[in-house]
Amino acid sequence: MKHPILITGGTGFIGSHTVVAFAEAGQPVVILDNLCNSSPKVLDRLAKLNANPIEFVQADIRDAQALDALFARYSFAGVIHFAGLKAVGESVAQPLRYLENNVSGTLNLLQAMDRANVRRLVFSSSATVYGNPVRMPIPETAALSATNPYGRTKLMCEDALRELHAADPRWHIAILRYFNPVGAHESGLLGESPNGIPNNLMPYITQVALGQRACLQIFGNDYDTPDGTGVRDYLHVCDLAAGHLAALRALHEPQLLTVNLGTGRGVSVQDMVNTFARVNGVPIPQKVMPRRAGDVAVSLADPRQAKALLNWETQFDLERMCADAWRWQSMNPQGFDTPL
Ligand code: NAD
Ligand code: UDP
Repeated sequence: MKHPILITGGTGFIGSHTVVAFAEAGQPVVILDNLCNSSPKVLDRLAKLNANPIEFVQADIRDAQALDALFARYSFAGVIHFAGLKAVGESVAQPLRYLENNVSGTLNLLQAMDRANVRRLVFSSSATVYGNPVRMPIPETAALSATNPYGRTKLMCEDALRELHAADPRWHIAILRYFNPVGAHESGLLGESPNGIPNNLMPYITQVALGQRACLQIFGNDYDTPDGTGVRDYLHVCDLAAGHLAALRALHEPQLLTVNLGTGRGVSVQDMVNTFARVNGVPIPQKVMPRRAGDVAVSLADPRQAKALLNWETQFDLERMCADAWRWQSMNPQGFDTPL
């Protein structure tokens, strides 16, 4: 029997898809999540998708005793660390909550791992650590900065990991900088289910498509981009999940890897809306609004390092991202509260 992998935040959007990818690869996992931004009903969906039961522990990464008990119970081969708060606007209003949860929580997890002699970690970072990037596509060597408290927490965790690895080279660490994950599991059983009004483009589009929201607001059509709307590097969440498996496999030697996970291809807001409407045959009413504060015009990954170091690249195209996102939303109008 292989040693299990601990997946913190494993009932969340990216975590739940990663749990499925690991289970399909024959890698046992244990989920730890405090359910502050996810539903326990995710576990029923995971049970439908996986032949073997998935262990779940409801606990907080800031709870050292709970972590020690968990590390004593299982002999983990490594940790994939998704747990964290991720809403940029909320982080501006509640910076201390974000620092406490994301930074203190990560430090607490690292200390528990060290005590348990488990020194293999894949960390969820974000393209937000590039701040206002000057060069496109963005290489991992680009300057780092934070433009909001959420981004600051990611940068602080990255810095902590770099300091840790410099001080103790026994650690195997992969820092993964995600660009814009969208889409859903092809079964329609798992997907993104934000609380309240979605901040992100794709869940907003799917709620408009369903008629739950009247109209998509396009935040700015006067950017210096081909059609004037913001350009991002969207990747399918199942490709992103596979990136974690690839990262864990690449961590066979003690080292610190930092890689972008993205496609390297730019998609504008207008491209995204048009593709979604065409692929799914659903109209998306839209209106142009002023730019959203803090948005950059373009954000694109240089994905070559991920290919070179992890042998990973994306498989799914934009059409597939739109089709899977819509299947999930239309099969689950109430998200995970929709009866199975
Ligand atoms: P999510 O909110 O769906 O999942 C995060 C999970 O962590 C949730 O289930 C939540 O309940 C749990 N959690 C939060 N704080 C916790 C704590 N203190 N203890 C235990 N569990 C806790 O978010 P996601 O989109 O799946 O993102 C996963 C990770 O990837 C996050 O760290 C996020 O910052 C990062 N990330 C996400 C995106 C994105 O666009 N979704 C982009 C870049 C980076
Ligand atoms: N966006 C938009 N309307 C929305 C949500 C987002 O026009 O309701 C735009 C946003 O301005 C950006 C792109 O869609 O250009 C992606 O935004 P998202 O919040 O999904 O990702 P991020 O800005 O964090 O890259």
